Amino acid sequence: MRIETLAVHAGQAVDAETGAVTPPIHLSTTFERDADGGYRQGYVYSRYGNPNRSAVEGCLTALEGGAAAAAFASGSAATFALLQSLAPGDHVLVPTDAYFGTTKLLREVIGPWGLTWDAVDMTDLDAVAQAIRPNTRVVWVETPSNPLVRIVDIREIAALAHAASARCVCDNTWATPVLTRPLELGADLVMHSTTKYLGGHSDVLGGALIAREDDELFQRVRGVQTSGGLVPSPFECWLLLRGIRTVPWRMRAHSANALAVAHHLRTHPAVEAVHYPGLESHPGHQIAKRQMSAFGGMLSLQVRGGRDAALAMTARLQLFTRATSLGGSESLIEHRASVEGAGTMAPENLLRVSVGLENVEDLIEDLDQALGS
Ligand SMILES: *Cc1c(COP(=O)(O)O)cnc(C)c1O
Repeated sequence: MRIETLAVHAGQAVDAETGAVTPPIHLSTTFERDADGGYRQGYVYSRYGNPNRSAVEGCLTALEGGAAAAAFASGSAATFALLQSLAPGDHVLVPTDAYFGTTKLLREVIGPWGLTWDAVDMTDLDAVAQAIRPNTRVVWVETPSNPLVRIVDIREIAALAHAASARCVCDNTWATPVLTRPLELGADLVMHSTTKYLGGHSDVLGGALIAREDDELFQRVRGVQTSGGLVPSPFECWLLLRGIRTVPWRMRAHSANALAVAHHLRTHPAVEAVHYPGLESHPGHQIAKRQMSAFGGMLSLQVRGGRDAALAMTARLQLFTRATSLGGSESLIEHRASVEGAGTMAPENLLRVSVGLENVEDLIEDLDQALGS
């Protein structure tokens, strides 16, 4: 089955008991034991497993083409579970422009617990090869990245990781399995903040890890998920599954809108630079063309006149909401430098845009009036 069909059907079946076409939400935290001591469907207690979580995990496994998935209360909980499944003394390599919460988690929580880590520019393959150590267990890839929307070659990084007997984990939040297939490119695990495009409506927090093999590492991930209680609620799983049904079509529309906005802004006199992998001038364009089926809904722009001009521009926008996050139907714009604070890699005149599903002519007109043209 193709991805549009999987998004509608994987993990989703008519309810055998009632005939309900839309799945029921199972709020029960506990499940009856049979007279012989067994459990009818294998459910015991909802921290260990719940029908709504199983449904969403089954769907995510199918969408990424993996062997198993684990759903979490947030993307950060998924990252935490993966890192916590390694051992103190192990080494992890992350990109210098990893999602800032990933680096923060390493710096403030996982590092003090005993994991060692380094950040490296993943567009520089020699630098990655040099930074891998004998105790490197995970090479973490994130593409497209925040906030410069840089592209990393997953196939190349996975090969470098495997040559050192390390695993390659890919944060596929921005691309989704609709646009990029990390497991087919050699990654061992895929991580998602399902809060973003997979949920798709800015109304549910969630995360997931999907594994190519249901191996010993993934058993440990599941142990952290259930023993640590990093689990999403049944309603959150239900909302996520509802969002996933339309993700293949939404990604096409996000990508088409973002491409049109990027082309328009590229020649705008008030704009210094546009960062979007769909532009031929983008340094990662050739890799993106190979690795992605479309270029996604995220772009950033640098406004002429510095920080004040950038902030003033956002104040004039009517259709773009000034807010963090991404992947919902509404367009959002964000001044990343002030969100990330000290140590940010974001230029002061940079605005990150999550291009939504509005009519693109309306979006372009709004950007034009805010940029003052
Ligand atoms: C949002 C995001 C995360 C973190 O996910 P949460 O659901 O907010 O915990 C991780 N990686 C990327 C690329 C993200 O955009």
